[in-house]
Amino acid sequence: MNNFQGQKVVITGASRGIGKAVAMAFLAEGATVLGIYGGNRQAATAFSQEHESTPGIPGRLQLYQCDVADDNQVRKFFATIEEEHDTIDVLVNNAGIRRDAVVAMMKPEEWQRVLDVNLTGSFLMAKQAVLLMMKQKYGRIISITSPMAHLGFAGQANYAASKAGQIGMMRSLAKETAKRKITVNCISPGFIETELLDGLTPEQLATYKNMIPMKRFGRPAEIAAAVLFLASPAASYINGAVLEITGGL
Ligand code: NAP
Repeated sequence: MNNFQGQKVVITGASRGIGKAVAMAFLAEGATVLGIYGGNRQAATAFSQEHESTPGIPGRLQLYQCDVADDNQVRKFFATIEEEHDTIDVLVNNAGIRRDAVVAMMKPEEWQRVLDVNLTGSFLMAKQAVLLMMKQKYGRIISITSPMAHLGFAGQANYAASKAGQIGMMRSLAKETAKRKITVNCISPGFIETELLDGLTPEQLATYKNMIPMKRFGRPAEIAAAVLFLASPAASYINGAVLEITGGL
């Protein structure tokens, strides 16, 4: 299918997990994917090589190393994109990290880094994307948040705060850009099978799975399908929304 043929899609955290599944889904629909990864060059190279050997879609994936929490790096990335591609149609703010600890034991740097990547990173990316999208009076911004934003979770005060902040910021941005036909929405996945869950004990994994009415974790492709829907013409009147995909959590 070629529902996104000719569209240019920026995805942060595109080298692994949910971001990679989103990238693969857009590539399968004809888009050009301009993906960002943090520091794991090996995963990014592996994805590029995988992509180049996939029949029908060579040459439409470009991966850039960029720390989304660093304003200079984000500006440099967008300057390159503007020079090479003029503008973009879709931004998926997906890069995210955890640094879990209970508040009493949390180091200020663990608090700060999670806020910097998950919240400030989304802001820096959205700001530059909006400046490009305004030129063509069209755009779709989709941010990956988490139900922890409103539920809270012991050991994840930094993560929950970053995701709650992301929702507030995106809902505000949705009001600012609506008249320029730039919609802004969030997707809030439950537990999804990615490396972000590494480090949880088998007991924790079993407990969390048992909490989910569908009794299984979600798959990255199940989040990607919703991202593509929000980026599609069918979602043209959805703005400032948060779509929960949790198996009923
Ligand atoms: P993941 O498998 O750990 O992948 C994270 C991706 O983000 C990687 O591509 C990583 O690149 C990139 N990244 C990390 N720090 C970055 C930085 N400073 N700058 C640029 N890129 C950076 O994570 P995931 O599970 O797919 O999660 C994706 C998003 O979904 C996150 O925002 C997460 O909070 C959210 N989410 C996940 C779940 C879940 O259960 N998995 C549930 C709810 C929400 P490198 O490898 O190069 O560092």
